[in-house]
Amino acid sequence: MIQKPRGTFDILPSDTPVWQFIEKTARDTAANFGYGEIRTPTFEATELFQRGVGDTTDVVQKEMYSFTDRENRSFTLRPEGTASVARALVENGKCSDTLPLKLYYMINCFRYEKPQAGRSREFYQFGVEMYGAADAAADADVIALGSEIISKLGIKDVSLHINSIGCPDCRPKYRQALYDYFKAHEDELCDTCKQRLETNPLRILDCKSPICSAIGKDAPKSIDHLCEGCADHMDKLKNHLDEMGIEYEIDTNIVRGLDYYTRTVFEFICTAIGAQSTVCGGGRYDGLMKQIGGPQMPGIGFAMGITRLILAMEASKAMPETKHEPLLYIAPMGAAAQCKAAGIVAKLRREGVYAEYDLVARSLKAQMKYADKINAKYTLIIGDNEIENGKAILKNMQESSQVEVDFTDMAALCEAMK
Ligand code: ATP
Ligand code: MG
Repeated sequence: MIQKPRGTFDILPSDTPVWQFIEKTARDTAANFGYGEIRTPTFEATELFQRGVGDTTDVVQKEMYSFTDRENRSFTLRPEGTASVARALVENGKCSDTLPLKLYYMINCFRYEKPQAGRSREFYQFGVEMYGAADAAADADVIALGSEIISKLGIKDVSLHINSIGCPDCRPKYRQALYDYFKAHEDELCDTCKQRLETNPLRILDCKSPICSAIGKDAPKSIDHLCEGCADHMDKLKNHLDEMGIEYEIDTNIVRGLDYYTRTVFEFICTAIGAQSTVCGGGRYDGLMKQIGGPQMPGIGFAMGITRLILAMEASKAMPETKHEPLLYIAPMGAAAQCKAAGIVAKLRREGVYAEYDLVARSLKAQMKYADKINAKYTLIIGDNEIENGKAILKNMQESSQVEVDFTDMAALCEAMK
C-alpha cells in the first residue's frame, strides 16, 4: 500500500467540522476587522523566500521543499504566507491602493521539519497582513484580531508574549552585544548556533535546544538596546493594548524565526499543548516589501497554526459540536418507490434540508437500522400502496410518534416535520 508522505496527514470527515469551525471563525472575525481574503500560488520562485524570509533562517537553510522544473528554474512550495502576499501586492499594483491594506489568507505550508505533535511537514496557517501603517496602533489592532480569534475559539490558558527586536538603527549595536555574549559561550552552543553566531546571532535566542535556550536566558535583552523611536513604539503599543483590555507579558526571549521582523514581535502561547506551544506568531516587518523589490512600506501580521489551535481547543475542552443529522430518511420498498424517494429528497435538498434515502438496496429492516445510526429525526416508508395513495407514515424517531402525510405536497411534508 502506498502511504502518505512522512509529516503529512489526512483530514477525515470526522475531523473536518473543527477545521471548518476554525476557518469560519477566523474569516468572520477578520472580516469584522476589515480584512479581505487573498489567495496566492502554492509554489513561488525560490528566490522570493530567500529574500523575503531570509537566507540565514532555518526555514530557508534547512526546511524548504525546493525543486527545479523542466526548464531548470528553481521553485519552492511556500513555507509561509507573508512573502507571497507581499509579492502579490507589488505585482498587482496594490501598494498604491488606499491604506492600510488589510489581507488574510488560509493556506497549506510546507517545511522539511522533524514531525512531532504540533509540527508537521505540510501544515495549515491562517494569517493576516496589514501594510502601510507604521504606527504602533496598527500593531495593537493586529494583535487584537489574533486575540479575538483565539478567544472566540474558546482557547483558555493562553498568554500573549510581546517583545521588540529594534530596527536597522538600533539592531546592529544589539547584535554586537549578543555576539560578544554568545562568543564567550561558543563551545557550549549546538552546531547550528555556532554558525548562527557568525551569520545571525539573534537566531540563537530562537533555538529549541535546551542548552542554547538556557544560555539565551541571560543574554543581553533587545529592549535594553532600543533607540528612542523603537522605545516609543513599544510604549504606545502597551498603552493601546491596556486600553483594549488585552493582557500581555514582555518576553525578552521572543525573537521569531524569520528574518524580516522589525520592532514588535509577539506570540500567543498555550503551554497546555506541550513543547510546540506557540499557536500564533507574528510581528512587524517594515523592510520586507522593499526587500522583495517593492516600495518601502511598513507591514505587520501574524500566522496561526491550525493544528496547534485544535490541540489548544482540545486542551480547553472547547471542541465544537459536530452533529450533522438528517431531518428525514426515506425508506423506499422497490424501484418505483426509490424513484419517488429520489424526487422528494431532491426537492427537500433544494429547500436546504438535509435528507437521505436508500441507494444501496438495503432491506427495510436494515434501512431502519441505518436511519437510527445516522440519527435521522424522521423516517418515511414508501411502497407501492403509498405511491398509489400519495400518503405515507411519517415517523418521528425521537418521540416514537407517527402521522400520515401527503408526501406529494412538499409544504405539508415540511410542516409535519417542524
Ligand atoms: P516554531 O518556532 O514553532 O517552529 P515558527 O517561528 O517557525 O514556529 P512561523 O513561521 O511564525 O513559526 O509560523 C506561524 C505559526 O505556524 C506557528 O506559530 C505555528 O503555530 C505554526 N507552525 C509553524 N511551523 C509549523 C509546523 N511545521 N507544523 C505545524 N504548525 C507550524
Ligand atoms: Mg519553525
